Amino acid sequence: MSVKEKNIKDVISQLHQMKKGQGAQTMRKQLIFLGPPACGKGTQTNRLAEYLNLPHVDTGSLLRAEIQGQTPNGIVAKSFIDKGQLVPVELVASIIKDRLSQEDCQNGYILDGFPRSLEQAEALEEMNAEINGTDGSDFRAIYFDLDQEVLISRIVNRRSCSACGEIYNIKFHPTKVEGICDKCGGKLTQRKDDNEETAKARFETYFRETAPLIDFYKNKGVLKTINANGSIDEVWERILEVIK
Ligand SMILES: [Zn+2]
Repeated sequence: MSVKEKNIKDVISQLHQMKKGQGAQTMRKQLIFLGPPACGKGTQTNRLAEYLNLPHVDTGSLLRAEIQGQTPNGIVAKSFIDKGQLVPVELVASIIKDRLSQEDCQNGYILDGFPRSLEQAEALEEMNAEINGTDGSDFRAIYFDLDQEVLISRIVNRRSCSACGEIYNIKFHPTKVEGICDKCGGKLTQRKDDNEETAKARFETYFRETAPLIDFYKNKGVLKTINANGSIDEVWERILEVIK
């Protein structure tokens, strides 16, 4: 084979690789975010999805969209919610699997709100393998580690606009005029359960349920712990370090 022929062959093979999206530079980034409520991961996941140009799959929004769209899964999910029951794990997993099978997730995704238990983590591992196999996948669990006092203080000082829903924090992210929304001029309100006692109980439950999950990912060597005490920009810089 002449040098020229060989070069052409190489180029063709490279093109095939690129087409499959499995070249060395196009590792599928599969990122999941773990962290208690009010740890700031919502803001960061949105920002990261934009930065990496990956879909942000938020479990809560996904479920709401299925229900609103009255899809077969959505109708079943609604029947549980209407009875005041939790949507079964298998159903949530099936909804997530459908979403992660879509074309825009081929190069990766950022998943939020799932998994919440060991059982769900195993389900996710299985569906990842079923959808795309394990070759070329770069899976990381990003854990937002935040001091409990900071978390509680974030919750207790949280206020939201009664008109547009914008979230503020009277200590860390106050409005320009006290009690008035910067965006729309609406009145700020405090949620009834945003008090110290409820916040504490919520975190204790959270840590109890999530601790096994954190160990699970740690043992697999894919856990990246982020110190989430700090400003949005400080935490953002730390995230960029661990997703490289
Ligand atoms: Zn507002």
